[in-house]
Amino acid sequence: MPRKSFNQKDRARIFLLRGGTCYLCKGKVDGVREAWEIEHEIPWAISRDDSDANLQVAHFKCHKGKTAVDIGDIAKVKRIAAKHTGTYPKSKAKIRSRGFAPTRG
Ligand SMILES: [Zn+2]
Repeated sequence: MPRKSFNQKDRARIFLLRGGTCYLCKGKVDGVREAWEIEHEIPWAISRDDSDANLQVAHFKCHKGKTAVDIGDIAKVKRIAAKHTGTYPKSKAKIRSRGFAPTRG
């Protein structure tokens, strides 16, 4: 399912559902004076969850900070998934031999 884009009705519904509070800084969002966005609490790239339960209101400035953290988390989830399917590239580092030689005797 493709990522959903939110229309005016969705934004109004989520804003009222969350009491107009930014869930990142817990501050009130002034819908008139402040830029705000609908935010996926569990990143969409991981959860694929567009339900209201996963949607939060966040100030634009607060959301930007979380997105930067989320990008790292998303990359990690993808790496772990790739390791489980065996599609993650193997390390190219060589294991050096110990140079063990049989002793003369
Ligand atoms: Zn905030």
